[in-house]
Amino acid sequence: MMITIKSQREIERMREAGKIAAAARSVGRRMLRDGVTTEEINKEIHKFILSCGATPTFLGYGGFPKSACISVNDEVIHGIPGKRLIRNGDIVSIDVGATYKGYVGDCAGTFPVGEVSPEAQELIRITRQSFFEGLRHARAGGRLYDISAAVQQYAESRGCGVVRDYVGHGIGAKMHEDPEVPNYVPPRGDHRANPRLLPGMTLAIEPMINAGGPAVRVLSNKWTVVTVDGSLSAHYENTVLITDGEPEILTIADDI
Ligand code: MG
Repeated sequence: MMITIKSQREIERMREAGKIAAAARSVGRRMLRDGVTTEEINKEIHKFILSCGATPTFLGYGGFPKSACISVNDEVIHGIPGKRLIRNGDIVSIDVGATYKGYVGDCAGTFPVGEVSPEAQELIRITRQSFFEGLRHARAGGRLYDISAAVQQYAESRGCGVVRDYVGHGIGAKMHEDPEVPNYVPPRGDHRANPRLLPGMTLAIEPMINAGGPAVRVLSNKWTVVTVDGSLSAHYENTVLITDGEPEILTIADDI
């Protein structure tokens, strides 16, 4: 495992990439309404990222065909934008990455469209809050799994399922760097490591939380991940810098 420690110059670039990714997420959020297609949202996000002088990190990544992942209701992550119509009552996860001057910002959020069920609203709240519970432990001197444990404890104690099959990640010049950042504490003997956190590490912390059980499967399009039990799922992600004090959210947006 090789965890990169970013220099001041790299951190400055990651701040810029993070701002663009966060703003792109907001572009998508503001488009959510009854009757819009997921492709229309993708198109605006794509144009916005280019207009910032950045490139959409997801486009072509591992063969992914679009610039944003848009996942609706029981879709967890990696929804492929297309002709699907968003409807009132849906919850929609928007995940975007932007590469700027060689560095990547990655962030996601789940948003209600029109009137959604109290259960859906609560799932969104729990998922977002589980990120902030984890963030409290994103501090130099602590260990990575302190973050994982806090996310898991918060979500599971509220009756939600924590997705195991997909995890957060280190991030920097590449979207996926070491270490993996699980949203649960892996069992002993797991292939992952539990490193001590150091200033200059940058992590994409991204709880994926289901209203039902934690099990997920991949659709025949080879990308879209859905809950096995058909329950709703939510996602919340920010790129975070470990400092010698409070963690810094690099994909900050005041409305999300
Ligand atoms: Mg990510």
